[in-house]
Amino acid sequence: MKVPLRDTEKNGDRYLVRYYMEGFRQPQRDNVYDALIDLSNRVCIDFKEVLSINKVDNIIHMKGPSMGASCSMYIGRNSDGSPQTMKLGRGCIQLGIVQHEMLHALGMDHEHNRPDRDVQWLNIEVNSQLEICLIPIF
Ligand SMILES: [Zn+2]
Repeated sequence: MKVPLRDTEKNGDRYLVRYYMEGFRQPQRDNVYDALIDLSNRVCIDFKEVLSINKVDNIIHMKGPSMGASCSMYIGRNSDGSPQTMKLGRGCIQLGIVQHEMLHALGMDHEHNRPDRDVQWLNIEVNSQLEICLIPIF
C-alpha cells in the first residue's frame, strides 16, 4: 500500500504539501489557489506555494498553460524523491480539474482502477492506529 503523505511535513492533524507554479498568468493562479483552498477545506491537507524548485525537492511542480495544453499527473510520488510534474494546460484551470490532478499527486487513482473494483462485498476493518483523512468523491 502506498502512503502518499509519508514524507510530508505534518502540523498537528494536518499535512502540508508544497507546490511550485510555472507558466501561469495571474487569473489562472487565482483559479488554482481557489481550487486548492476548497480542497484543503475538505481534507486534512494544507497546500503551500513555494517560489523556487530544485531537482531533489519532494514537491509538486505545476506546469501551466504557457507550457503545454495537456492535463495530466502520475499517481503518487516519484520514487527518487524528485518533484512530481503536474500539467495544467489550457482548459485545465478549473476547480474540479485542478483538484482531480492534485488528488492524483497525493496518490488517489480513479475508482474504476481500484484493485477491489470487482469485489461484490467488502469487509472494511478500521485500524484504530490509522488516522482517517477524508477525501471527497468527485
Ligand atoms: Zn485522472
